[in-house]
Amino acid sequence: MKEDIVKVSSEIGKILDKDKRIVIFSHVNPDGDAVGSAQGLYHYLRTWISQVTVVLPNNFPAFLNWIPENEKILQFDSQTIQATKAIQKADILFYCDFNDPNRIEKISEVVNTSNNIKIMIDHHPEPVHFADFMISDTSVSSTSELIYEFISLLEAGKPKGKAIADCLMTGIVTDTGLFNHNSENRRTFEIVADLLEMGADKKFIIQKIYNDYPYDRMRLLGNSLHNRLKFYPEFASAFIYLPKEDLVNFNHQMGDTEGFVNIPLSITGVRFSALFIEKDDQIKISFRSTGDFDVNQFARKYYHGGGHKNASGGKSYETLNITIDKFVQLLQQYKMEITGDI
Ligand code: 5GP
Ligand code: MN
Repeated sequence: MKEDIVKVSSEIGKILDKDKRIVIFSHVNPDGDAVGSAQGLYHYLRTWISQVTVVLPNNFPAFLNWIPENEKILQFDSQTIQATKAIQKADILFYCDFNDPNRIEKISEVVNTSNNIKIMIDHHPEPVHFADFMISDTSVSSTSELIYEFISLLEAGKPKGKAIADCLMTGIVTDTGLFNHNSENRRTFEIVADLLEMGADKKFIIQKIYNDYPYDRMRLLGNSLHNRLKFYPEFASAFIYLPKEDLVNFNHQMGDTEGFVNIPLSITGVRFSALFIEKDDQIKISFRSTGDFDVNQFARKYYHGGGHKNASGGKSYETLNITIDKFVQLLQQYKMEITGDI
């Protein structure tokens, strides 16, 4: 743990008290770590502060609908008035699992008209310096891990409670892809051990997140691999594209395509994969890489996005076909960077 986390946590501890009104944000299209870290912090703060609200820009994936007290989360796009009131009344805003205020999209317009203390807790590189307090560490597995450290520092001891443990375990399990990546440090496993002791139900969490999908999602996946997967061995790359008609035909629910982008990476020789999803107003894109090709920089440069070195996302405002054509040209251009020493 970085030393400044100790210092910043202690400073934050001084401004928190039971009468403060708190709102916790996480990023648009929230994933397991976004919801897990925000809701884990929520459960901790709720043990001694009465007015704590989690506000997300849009809905979270259906596979997280068991998260303790998920029904209390406000979704800005469908509960705009209630969420706006909570934000305007808040004394303190926490930003979890993102480091650029634009990642909460329209919420940032509400924040700009209010005058609250801003606290960012995140593990992505290249943070934007907008917050009054910043806990930023790219060496940890997940924001949930940082929330664990933050709570431990505030409490001067290990956190307690099954709800906190289940939420933080969710973030660690999902951001490491079931401990496939981002989990080379001993500390991550020490925290996981503590979460188990706190009562986290690892088996249940993994069952809910990875092994409990609608039949239609399985068929969407089958169709995507059979009909929508492109493989470019000369560029060590592969991608899946999902036209809107596929999403309609297979009754797509929020979260159904989670994890799809990782699958092409398991093709022998593939070091870079992408997923293109056609939405109403944009193409949502995810990138994954193994090795040195930096998909955070790639997403920032070409796709209005960002993320981590080996996992990032972005968007395109062109048609699906044009987006894909341009992407293939970029594969050509980045051939050396992607294939490296192959
Ligand atoms: P995913 O592909 O699962 O949506 O996202 C992978 C990683 O990239 C996550 O850390 C996510 O927060 C980040 N990410 C995804 N989309 C965007 C984007 O549009 N902008 C930025 N800055 N980060 C993104
Ligand atoms: Mn994360």
